[in-house]
Amino acid sequence: MKVLYPGSFDPLTLGHLDLIERSVRLFGGVVVAVLQNPGKTPSFPLDQRLGQIRLATAHLRGVEVSSFDGLTVEFARRCDAMVILRGLRALSDFEFELQIAHTNHSLAPEVETLFMATSAQHSFLSSSVVKEVARFGGNVRHMVPAGVADDLARLFNRTTPSA
Ligand code: ADP
Repeated sequence: MKVLYPGSFDPLTLGHLDLIERSVRLFGGVVVAVLQNPGKTPSFPLDQRLGQIRLATAHLRGVEVSSFDGLTVEFARRCDAMVILRGLRALSDFEFELQIAHTNHSLAPEVETLFMATSAQHSFLSSSVVKEVARFGGNVRHMVPAGVADDLARLFNRTTPSA
């Protein structure tokens, strides 16, 4: 079964990576797809986000890294994915995610949305929180893959603590 894990990944966090690893274990593979959203100005350009994901998932078999614009369900159809995977960190994610899942179901009833609960140790992580910490010189090395920590340090012209 082909599974699509779409998101902004701006940047990839260890929470995202945890979900990718667990979906590979569950489904044997996953298509991680970066959404090019014209309504958002990302902190990292698309190519850099794709590179971050490729680097962080190089040890995993069955991970395909891709990008798309437009409707997620249309991309799911194009790549033959029957499942859209989304992560749930807290109740606050639920309302929005449920709305999107219902919308997507009305557009493409054959594509199912599956929610996976975030691992407890990553439930506080979001790309925006990570950027906020990095912007002010805090240590993000326990929040993101090593390559992303380096990219964040460059983005904010900082040298991050190594531990
Ligand atoms: P989007 O803008 O589509 O929400 P994100 O990159 O913020 O893109 O998130 C992509 C997916 O990863 C979403 O399903 C989100 O719930 C999930 N996610 C975000 N942070 C975490 C985390 N810490 N642990 C697991 N999943 C997460």
